[in-house]
Amino acid sequence: MPHFLTSLICVILSVGTGYAADAPIKYDDKTEVLLGRLGPPSKDVMRLFQGVGMKNVRYHPVTEEEREKIGAALASLPDIHRKVLVDHLDRLSFVDGILGAGTGLTSASNTKGSYSVTFRASLINESLTEFLTTKERTLFNNVKDGPIITVTAKGLDALPFGLLHESTHMVDSTFGIWRDLNQPLIHDIWKDASDLKVPYANSAVTGTDFRGKGRVSVRKAQSIYDAMQDSPFVSLYSTASAGEDIAELVAWYIELKRFNADLVIELSSASGETIKRYRPLEFRRVKDRFEAVQKLMSMLEESAAVSR
Ligand SMILES: [Zn+2]
Repeated sequence: MPHFLTSLICVILSVGTGYAADAPIKYDDKTEVLLGRLGPPSKDVMRLFQGVGMKNVRYHPVTEEEREKIGAALASLPDIHRKVLVDHLDRLSFVDGILGAGTGLTSASNTKGSYSVTFRASLINESLTEFLTTKERTLFNNVKDGPIITVTAKGLDALPFGLLHESTHMVDSTFGIWRDLNQPLIHDIWKDASDLKVPYANSAVTGTDFRGKGRVSVRKAQSIYDAMQDSPFVSLYSTASAGEDIAELVAWYIELKRFNADLVIELSSASGETIKRYRPLEFRRVKDRFEAVQKLMSMLEESAAVSR
């Protein structure tokens, strides 16, 4: 299931070099292996972009400075994600010319069980706050005196979050998480890969374009986020499919655990007064699911250790 042009997110590990300016940073072996997969996207990937009207998408060879940020983001991933990437990532590419708030694409490669990941190059220097706010605002039509939506993810950057989200898709696909309807993270919420169970199927949280509803008036934002507050979803994007739900939940769990992440969605007036704030990482049902993620991650890490 290609994940397209929508969400993604993240953490920045700024790397204090201490090296001479012309000496490239040496990372651990796995990170160096993954940096070796950097390169132009395949013709198939370019065709996917062109197929959705993005005729001007073009390869972005990364600079040394960008390579350092990519290396730091790869080094920050959990062990299980890094193992899956080493085993299954064919190509990591950056491109210019992706339209709108699109982030990138994870797609199956010609080799069975392998994937290529392609990111919008400008993500490398974007904060997660900027990324998430832009993405969230694309869901709503502005109206006069309507609320203004801002998503704040302090201290986190878009690229590490994006890598975390995309590589979680690969972990998910490798271990078949969302396909297991008895998996605690899935049952009670998802009927199948794309259909939600009641009550979530009828909830206002599904009233966005992430569920194919098109752009809605920003006046509906508060009722949508109020519904999200009572839901098991850490983001509106989580409602897109079981796969996106898992990717968002695991990514935020890891950001929370490793970097003490803080995520705030704020509705404010034009004059800057706060109307309402939401903290998805503290939603009751999300916290309950984080416990299931913790168990799942421990199980995956153990199985990876056994198979090493
Ligand atoms: Zn995704």
